[in-house]
Amino acid sequence: QSKPQARVDGSTGVTFGDVAGIEIAVEELQELVKYLKTPELFDKMGIKPPHGVLLEGPPGCGKTLVAKAIAGEAGVPFYQMAGSEFVEVLVGVGSARIRDLFKRAKVNKPSVIFIDEIDALATRRQGIFSDKTDDLYNAATQERETTLNQLLIELDGFDTGKGVIFLAATNRKDLLDPALLRPGRFDRKIRIRPPNAKGRLEILQVHARKVKLSESVDLSVYAQNLPGWSGARLAQLLQEAALVAVRNKHDSILQSDVGEAVDRLTVGPKRVALDLG
Ligand code: ATP
Repeated sequence: QSKPQARVDGSTGVTFGDVAGIEIAVEELQELVKYLKTPELFDKMGIKPPHGVLLEGPPGCGKTLVAKAIAGEAGVPFYQMAGSEFVEVLVGVGSARIRDLFKRAKVNKPSVIFIDEIDALATRRQGIFSDKTDDLYNAATQERETTLNQLLIELDGFDTGKGVIFLAATNRKDLLDPALLRPGRFDRKIRIRPPNAKGRLEILQVHARKVKLSESVDLSVYAQNLPGWSGARLAQLLQEAALVAVRNKHDSILQSDVGEAVDRLTVGPKRVALDLG
């Protein structure tokens, strides 16, 4: 009944070195790593353990990456589920999954729980059902509310789960139920912004380490000229450039390969245009 289970990585292997362009957030998150490494020290000093952290920001800007880096830096298990995995029409399934998730994280503490797209399960509750004739809709709404209530119960009882940090991510904070945002549930809300030109360059540099880039390539040109590109898209750019380089039979990625990759990602592959034409 409680399938699917959270994906657990012994440790994620991701570190803050893999995260670029969002220094302010990273600094704030270092404290959580310290807590996960030495929860007993925080206890001894009488410091209240952090409850939950909400990572908010547009898609592909590193929310999941940052959550993984916290677990990876601390070397603790990472329990990841998406908000949509709790949304079921069958009564009680979502709340059972929440209970199961928190239980397993507590057994293996210190640990990190991460729910991506939390808006899928924690949208503003309706109170009364708007359309009583639609039974399926009503059942789904009721089930989602039961699941959200269970999440709130788990977060309120978090003191018993010392050593567990709850992280959630959303790009629609405006949709979240206000009860979830009340103090004591998420004691930190961290906004992860799209990278600026400096951030884009740093992200490109991080991902350049994973591919074979010719020393002559100047990445700053792309950082300057690709406003609005997310970290995910920039990572994809270098992967695409590597594919282009292979296709062009180059030993390493050249500036022209990166340029071609930009074109492919913005206007689509030339080949498609030729096939159509
Ligand atoms: P979504 O809201 O769509 O879940 P997200 O904000 O959680 O997006 P991630 O899944 O963390 O985004 O990013 C996807 C991938 O893009 C990462 O695994 C990483 O390769 C790359 N990436 C994104 N942001 C950064 C960043 N700031 N630094 C380095 N790499 C990044």
